[in-house]
Amino acid sequence: MLETTVAGSLPKPAWLAEPEKLWAPWRLAGGELEQGMRDATLLWIKEQESAGIDILSGGEQHRVHFVHGFLEHVAGIDWEKKTKMGIRDNRYVVDVPTVTGPVSRKGHVHSEEARYSRAQTSKKLKFTLPGPMTICDTIAEAHYGRRADMAMAFADLLNQEARELEALGVDTIQFDEPAFNAFLGDTVEWGVDALNRACRGLKCTTAVHICYGYGIKANIDWKKTLGSEWRQYEEIFPSLNRSDVDQVSLECANSRVPLHLIGLLKDKDVLVGAIDVATEAVETPEQVAATLTAAMAHVDPARMFPCTNCGMAPLPRAAAVGKLKALGAGAALVRKTLK
Ligand code: ZN
Repeated sequence: MLETTVAGSLPKPAWLAEPEKLWAPWRLAGGELEQGMRDATLLWIKEQESAGIDILSGGEQHRVHFVHGFLEHVAGIDWEKKTKMGIRDNRYVVDVPTVTGPVSRKGHVHSEEARYSRAQTSKKLKFTLPGPMTICDTIAEAHYGRRADMAMAFADLLNQEARELEALGVDTIQFDEPAFNAFLGDTVEWGVDALNRACRGLKCTTAVHICYGYGIKANIDWKKTLGSEWRQYEEIFPSLNRSDVDQVSLECANSRVPLHLIGLLKDKDVLVGAIDVATEAVETPEQVAATLTAAMAHVDPARMFPCTNCGMAPLPRAAAVGKLKALGAGAALVRKTLK
């Protein structure tokens, strides 16, 4: 009961990439980089084990960015043809590469990484992939005509990749869809269909992570515009509850999401974010327990998985370690009350 897990990413050690920075370039190259990524993965698996986390992530130590780490292995993208795009509904403007032909995988994307992680632990293993809608919000479209059609094409590639990861012994495959909160109409119209397509035929546990983003300035400023109650989940949860995905990961710690909205996910497992990733301050186990207990009013503990609000990649390493321990200890406190 109350198996703990994390949203996905964890900080890169300083010897691997510049800390506390998204898109930080590698500090190693060639064979040293390969070894460094593996060592960092091992480090985080052991940190999670000692913190009492039950479903572990490799911490995304093999990718510079959670979307581009996949796209680098996809054909049909012109990386030289940069298009200015206001991503996450114009929350930030960036130069993004452009899809100029039919997309296909150049080969296995994450197999080596998953095989390595799987061999390091006997605990359950989660692997994260970017969701099809979030991919389409991070890349420009100049081939398919409609973003929804491009999303379906990416969903097929993600499905191929997910089936390979499942065959390697990954227990949970999670698709990260922060874009779901930014494009509510599109999410209901085609985002969930694309997610279902990415999950097609998978027998392992499937999850979708929907959040309000990393604790970076653009996201913190955006959150200030959302008012005193964040009700984005209210529009998308009914269609997610009807979707094929098994689990929904959402943010609850220090969030203005009304917790009763969790009640809209009555047929899903709920990964309750009880760790705030927008602050370096480490929660006490009691604070974590309080967030979990409040969520339990709206979700049966049998369907509840204590988790982090989002990835912890931009945090200092020590803060992330502290937060993992707080999550493990906070969940243990709540478990005691359930006996
Ligand atoms: Zn997130």
